[in-house]
Parts: sequence; C-alpha cells; structure tokens
Amino acid sequence: MTDLAFGDRHSRAVLGLGLNAEPKIVRIYAGKLAGSISRQHLLVCLINLIARLHGSVKAIQLQAEDHLVVALPHIRGKILAFEAMASLAVWVNGGRIPVCPLGDVADIVIDISAGHQHDADLYAWGSGWKSWVGSTPASFVRVEDRRDCLGPYFAAALVAGELFKRSKGLIKGRFAENEAHSLWSGASGDWDLLPDGPRVDGGSIPDCYLIGAGAVGQGVVNVLGASNLARAYAVTVDHDHHDKEGTNLNRCFLAGVGDIDKPKVDVVRRYREISGLAGFEFHGTLNDYLVAEKADLAQRLLEKEQRDVYELVISAVDINQSRQDIQGLRPRIVVGGSTDGLRAQSVWYGLDEKAECLGCWNQPDNSKARAMAVEAELRAMTEDQQRQRLVGNVNDLDAALAFLNDPEPRCGRLGEADIRAFASSVSPEFSVSFVSMASAVMTAARVLTLGLSGEQTKLRRSKSIFHFRSLKCDDATTALRQACPHCG
Ligand SMILES: [Zn+2]
Repeated sequence: MTDLAFGDRHSRAVLGLGLNAEPKIVRIYAGKLAGSISRQHLLVCLINLIARLHGSVKAIQLQAEDHLVVALPHIRGKILAFEAMASLAVWVNGGRIPVCPLGDVADIVIDISAGHQHDADLYAWGSGWKSWVGSTPASFVRVEDRRDCLGPYFAAALVAGELFKRSKGLIKGRFAENEAHSLWSGASGDWDLLPDGPRVDGGSIPDCYLIGAGAVGQGVVNVLGASNLARAYAVTVDHDHHDKEGTNLNRCFLAGVGDIDKPKVDVVRRYREISGLAGFEFHGTLNDYLVAEKADLAQRLLEKEQRDVYELVISAVDINQSRQDIQGLRPRIVVGGSTDGLRAQSVWYGLDEKAECLGCWNQPDNSKARAMAVEAELRAMTEDQQRQRLVGNVNDLDAALAFLNDPEPRCGRLGEADIRAFASSVSPEFSVSFVSMASAVMTAARVLTLGLSGEQTKLRRSKSIFHFRSLKCDDATTALRQACPHCG
C-alpha cells in the first residue's frame, strides 16, 4: 500500500447512495464569528467532519473572520478562525484535504454566516438543542445567545451528510430542503415549532463510564468537552489502537494522522486536557478494568466499584459480546450510541422496566458459524476464484490454496492457519464521519437530559433513530425479550 486508506470505510457500498464518489471543492462562508459561540461550534465540527471525507471532498475554501474561543479537537487557545481551521485540517488528514482561502471555482457552496448575502447550495444553523439545514436561506429569526454545542454539532452532521449524498449520488432518499430537528424532544419539523432544551453550559451530569473510544465514543467526549459543563467526570475504557492503515481516522474525531497506531484512550485524555473535562482513561478491556488497580480514579467511584455499583454507563462499543459484558455489570442506566449505514441511533436502557436492556436484542454473533460458512464458500469456488479472493489477504497463497483443495485436509497442515484467519476476519462495514457524530450528539443529548431534567427523561421514548437518507427521525420504545438472561 503506497498511501493510507483513509476513505476505505465510507467508500464501501451503502443502501441508497451510488458507489463512486465525485470529489468536490467545497466553499464555506462562515462570516464574522466574534460573539457567536453557536456558529463557532458549527464551523469547528463541520471542518472536523468534512476534512475526513476522503474521496468526496477535494478541498475546502473558507471565509471566516475573528478568533475562535470554543474548544478545538487538536489545540488549545484563542486562535484566528481561518488559521485554526487550516491547522485542524492538516492535523486530521496530513494535507490531503486542505483548508484554503476562497478561489475562483467551487462545486458546493455552504453558508453558515448570519446573513443571507451568499448564493449557496446549502445553509445551516444550530443553537441550543436545535439544528437546521436548508437549500434556501432560513426563514426563521436566528438568535445568537446560546453557548451550547449540541444543536450546532448536529447541524454540522446534517450539512456533511448532504455533501456526501451529493458527491455519491442519491439513488433512494431525498436531499434537504428545510429541515429542523430538536435533540430535546427528538422531533423534526418547523424550526419555530420545535421545543428547545435548557442551557447546558455550566450544567452538570452524573459521573459516567464510557465503554469504547472509537468513533461514537470520541464524539461523545468531544460533545461533553465542548459543552463547558460545571461538573462532569468520564471514565473511558478501550483496549484498541487507531489502525495502521488509517481507516479509523475517517470518523475518530479526536484523532489526527499523528495518532495512527496509538491507543484510542490517549486522544480522549488529550482532548479532556484541552477542553477541561474531568475524567480517567484505562487502556484495556472492560474485564481488565474491573480487576485493575486504579490509583488515579476518583475516590467516590473507587468506593462504588467496591460495592459493584455502576450508575451510568455509555455504551459506544460495536460488538454484541461487549454489550453483553456492559449489561452484565448491571448498571442502573445505560445510554447506547451506535450506527448502521446511514442511520444514527441512541437509546437509554434501565429507565423503563418493560423496555429492552442493552443485552436483550444484542445477542453475541456466532463468529464460529460465520467463519465455517466463509470457508465452505471458498471450498465451493474454482481455484482461479479462490486465488482472486485470497491474493493479498493471506501470507502464503500457494499453501492456502493447497489446503483448500486437499480432499482430506489434515489439521495443522501448512495453509490452514491462513485460511482460518481469513475466514474469521469479519469484513468491515460502511461507516462515515457524520453518522457517527450524529449518534454521538444524540447519545450525549440523552446523557445531558438525564443530568438536567427528570421530567423530560420521563417524556422521551427510549430510542431515537435518525435516517440521513430520508432526514427523518423515529422515536420508539422496544419491549424487553422474555428470554433475556439479564432481565427476562
Ligand atoms: Zn434484557
């Protein structure tokens, strides 16, 4: 491989979009940013998302004035907006998708400024808990008095989604026309009719455990850190590294090219230090964590852990066995964030005794059965087909082919290990920055709702699913599974 495979995961097939992306030059008008914390959040999140859309975005032309005072993913300090965004892009992608001054031509124009002066393809706005994206300028009054990042971050995800849909081509679904969404109520519709939530800035949330520091996990930490909370403490547990090929970096929002091959929890720690969020990181599995010595962990949590008490756990894992392990801790409340193609999801578990727990419907995958099916499929192929399928994926191609084509394969034979490793490696699925960020914002919004309003917690259904294809959001409560070992 001559270069890193940054765009690998979002270049895979996904329902509703074309397979081949057309790279776009994107122009963003951000306007004067002093005094508008909302638009600063929107800009920072938007650049962080689209500077990761390798193959769909070629370059970003930016017009932005004034200094930024909001939390940035990569550096601390009050920095001129253009310089801050140019350095963010270099940090994210090593110069592959640069942020540059306005040029002559652009394929897609985005206006997030407060005025209507630019003829743009897309307009966006976010404030408080509300987000909006449109193909014509906003018709509602935009008030710049909020400091929260929830609405602006979700708006950034909506814009990035529209950009991606335009670069790939839409086969099924629709483009945004005038779409507002409230993270407070979970409803979509007309901006003026959607309810907004309380001020988050200066608020507090319960101590929480974040299991999984991949895309959704890093997004949750990003949102909590940028929310300027008065009181919050996040314990992050993850055993993984950012992969050597760079495929994680299309959606790991707190990581740049310098973080390749380094532990995911390290970037969480760095961002906590930049943003002032309190917490503790553990590099290892949840099971390692439970038995480890943790000298630097907050004393109140150490005491609760000795009594096996876990009040609030955020599940940002993508393997069902890990979800079973989390539910096995019997936490009082779990908030789960996940993605599936172009759908972002967040769920809370443990608030409604008739509703599902995290373990109910997330049964462990039968990886052995799946590996056996892959091996059977290989054996049914001609040798030419086998060669095509395996080349580049096994260490010793000839030995692997000989093992496959031996009518009586013996255990321990040369090539067996190669085939078994190939058959059990699960082909990774489509994933992309804006869906992971949407799930992270929806998940953080549920965590913040828990901390800020018991009443709203009772009103909301357990689960929200946002569909980027149709720009619809479904709220639902799923019943528990009678045979569930945790709650049945
Ligand atoms: Zn259950």
